[in-house]
Amino acid sequence: MHPDLQQLIQLQEVDSSADRARRRLAELPAAEEALKARAAERAAAVAGVKERIAAAQAERRELEKELAMLQARLSKFKGQLMEVKTNKEYQAMQKETAGAEQDIRSHEDRLLDHMEAAESLAAELKSAETALKAEQAEIAREEQALDAERVAIDRDLQQAALARSETVARVSPEALAIFERVAHGRKGLAVAEARDGLCTVCHVRLRPQVFNEVRRNDAINQCDSCTRILYFKVLKGAEGC
Ligand SMILES: [Zn+2]
Repeated sequence: MHPDLQQLIQLQEVDSSADRARRRLAELPAAEEALKARAAERAAAVAGVKERIAAAQAERRELEKELAMLQARLSKFKGQLMEVKTNKEYQAMQKETAGAEQDIRSHEDRLLDHMEAAESLAAELKSAETALKAEQAEIAREEQALDAERVAIDRDLQQAALARSETVARVSPEALAIFERVAHGRKGLAVAEARDGLCTVCHVRLRPQVFNEVRRNDAINQCDSCTRILYFKVLKGAEGC
C-alpha cells in the first residue's frame, strides 16, 4: 500500500475516534442534568407527602378543638336539663342535647377516619423516603460513572492528539493537504472505503478504471462524487474477485 494512503487511513481513524469522544463529552452535561432532575423529582415526592401530612394534622387539630367545644356545650345542656320547669322546656332541651350528641358522634367518626388516613400517610412517607434514598444512591453511582467517563475521554483525547501529530509527521505535505481540505468540507470524514465498485460513504458507483486503480492501493485516488480519498480493503480470499 502507498505509504501516504496507509497514514491517511490511520489519521482518519484517529480523527473519527476523537470526534466520537468529543461528541460524547458534549452529551455529558445533559446526562448530569438529567440525573439532578431525577433526584429533584424523588425529593419533591417526599415533600408532597409531608405537605399532605401537615395539612391532615392541622385539620385534625381543628376537629379536636370543635369536639371539645361540642362536649362543653353538651355538658352545659345536661346541667340546664336538671333545672327546667316545664315539660315543653324539657323537650326542647332534650332535642338540643340529642343534636349535640349527634354532632359529637360525627366528629368522633371523622377523627377515627383521620387516624386511619394518618397511618396510611405515614406508610406512604416511609416508602417515598426509602425510594428517595435508593434513588440517591443509584444517582450517586451514575454520577461517579459519568465523572470516570469524562476522565477517560479527556485522556483518550490527549492520546489522540499525540497520535495525530505523530501520524501527520509521517504523511507527505501534498497528501496531508488533500486530506485536510476534504475533511474540512466533509464533516471530518476524508477517507472512504471503496467496495463492490462503490464509494461506501456517498454510495456513488466509481468508474471501472478508478475502481481498478483504487484496488491497487498504490496512489491517492479521490471519489469523483464526494472527493473522499478512497482505499480498498483487501480481505483474505477476496483478492481478484
Ligand atoms: Zn464518495
